[in-house]
Amino acid sequence: MFYPYFLGEIWELHMLASPRMRPFHRSYYSALCLTLFLGGCASAPELKEAAPVRGPEFTGLRIEDGPGSLGSEPRKHPVTLLVLHHTAGSLPSSLDKLQGKDPKHKVGIHYVVTDEPKPRVIRMVPETMAAYHAGKSAWGRLVGLNQHSIGIEVINFDGNVYGYSEAQAEVLFALCSEIIRRHDLRPWNVVGHSDISVGRKIDPGSKFPWSKLASLGVGAWPLAYDVRMNLGRELDLSPERFRSMLKAYGYVLEAGEPGLKHGVEAFQRHFRPGKVDGCIDRETVALLEALLRRYPETTAGGEAIRP
Ligand SMILES: [Zn+2]
Repeated sequence: MFYPYFLGEIWELHMLASPRMRPFHRSYYSALCLTLFLGGCASAPELKEAAPVRGPEFTGLRIEDGPGSLGSEPRKHPVTLLVLHHTAGSLPSSLDKLQGKDPKHKVGIHYVVTDEPKPRVIRMVPETMAAYHAGKSAWGRLVGLNQHSIGIEVINFDGNVYGYSEAQAEVLFALCSEIIRRHDLRPWNVVGHSDISVGRKIDPGSKFPWSKLASLGVGAWPLAYDVRMNLGRELDLSPERFRSMLKAYGYVLEAGEPGLKHGVEAFQRHFRPGKVDGCIDRETVALLEALLRRYPETTAGGEAIRP
């Protein structure tokens, strides 16, 4: 049955009312529910527009309840991943698209971070629902990651070209850290769309503030000491070994040389943004070995070479 979202609001008003007034509110609420229930049985209205979204409060961060999105479905799996995106479009066009009204390209997202001087956070889909943001995707042993993740879209036309503002990074830190805490997410499971759709997606791009966020405790990053130690010794740069290490960290690659090159690019876009060329050089190997050392319990778990 269609559940009118404003019932929640009326109930909240009721709870805010003085105890003396509550009996009156309660009878009004019951009558309204009954009327709506009977009305709903007679002719269930078709859901043309998604209902505005309500969700958990965030400390120190104001979340605006957005217009909702039809690009969502009931969640069947616990949240284990947080996926970051850039919108590749303006705020108005992105908000329009993310309402999932196009039946041929139904998309959705949990949160949108705007590109205004004081970025706002707009909630489109509640965390209790799965949103259609990841598409064809895989990480470690998981595939079809919409069901396993929370998605955040950041307004940016191309995060490989245009930087993210300091203010956006600050808002992202507040938003992500609370989601991570609430769902007890592991650092290596805070990923970019390009990490989980290798060769298909390039967002949120090499300009995304991964290292800054990681320094504040959001997401994974190798220890500088380990990277330096690795660079000071001989390293195995063989493609087979690097593929195994990428797999051990969580990356899911297509077979063959192009698949590996896309994997190296995705890794570099996240962890070596200064040079994204798909070449397995010493620095790239040193970074991945240091990551595996710091996080020995990565998603794929012990199937491949450990440094
Ligand atoms: Zn994306």
